Amino acid sequence: MLIVPEAACPDLLPFDAAFDAVEAVFAAMARGEAYNFPVIREAIGHEDALYGFKGGFDRAGSALGLKAGGYWPNNQARGLINHQSTIFLFDPDTGRVQAAVGGNYLTAARTAAASAVSIKHLSRPDSKVLGMVGAGHQSAFQMRAALRQRKFEKVIGWNFHPEMLSRLADTAAEAGLPFEAVELDRLGAEADVIITITSSFAPILKADQIRPGVHLACMGTDTKGKQEVDPELLARATVFTDEVAQSVSIGEAQHAVASGLIAESAITPVGAVIAGQHPGRVSAEEITLFDGTGVALQDLAVASAVVARAQAEGKATEVAI
Ligand code: NAD
Repeated sequence: MLIVPEAACPDLLPFDAAFDAVEAVFAAMARGEAYNFPVIREAIGHEDALYGFKGGFDRAGSALGLKAGGYWPNNQARGLINHQSTIFLFDPDTGRVQAAVGGNYLTAARTAAASAVSIKHLSRPDSKVLGMVGAGHQSAFQMRAALRQRKFEKVIGWNFHPEMLSRLADTAAEAGLPFEAVELDRLGAEADVIITITSSFAPILKADQIRPGVHLACMGTDTKGKQEVDPELLARATVFTDEVAQSVSIGEAQHAVASGLIAESAITPVGAVIAGQHPGRVSAEEITLFDGTGVALQDLAVASAVVARAQAEGKATEVAI
């Protein structure tokens, strides 16, 4: 089997490769050529850790495997990042293990690629102002990916912990764009595209703060109980997701569906838009919302891309197992 260490992954996965891999696998899901297995996630009663597996099979891309890992809240005090994961790929023809790939960078890259795919396919082409809600580890990856999709002229942002906003300012500066920290009313009134990427358990953005024509990528809610926006906002929006089953159980839509504001049948996989099965945004006034919950097939898609490049460049270590 091949080992691709965590430290090698950033160089092996240019952003365009992550974007293309995620866009392709979302389309494969819509065509019924790829599917995710039920997610296992357990509080293991040790170190307050959450541990689990996300697996799937992409017949079109010939990727079978899983991501194993989770969240260890005490890691930071040990000089380690709290989210830890490794992706394992298996040969779909024989079941033999093919590769183990560090999953920490790849998780950030595939999550940023997912919201960027939604911005490419669902936001207004004339979008000029990017609004960021959240300023944690993922936010910089999210902003960089979004800025490649439209000719944004400015970034505005809000965060629950204002002392973290410098990350957004620094990331916008990297791209040569001005950044302004604003209150949520102004963020909703000015932004054409809004990304939410927080670990909030209560709604941050209210439905009345959002203007017509906006595209929202809600990326932080990936667990039962988490929530970033007012459920009424989903009732006003056309709602898209990576996978409907995850959207209604662990995604942002869990709250709007549970309270009867929207039906599960009203949520469309973004892959259907990519595959030409759904028109996507149909008017400049429409609010579109992408509920990005994070599926195994995204992990397998970027890990496969990394393994192919590592083999081509001689950067993978082969071990017998
Ligand atoms: P982080 O710990 O680095 O940052 C957390 C962010 O949430 C910060 O902006 C912080 O200010 C904010 N926050 C914390 N408590 C809050 C509260 N009570 N109300 C509002 N905001 C609050 O985390 P990160 O690595 O940037 O991840 C952010 C979120 O994205 C997490 O919930 C994580 O689970 C989720 N995530 C989702 C996917 C996906 O595929 N959808 C992938 C990776 C991470």
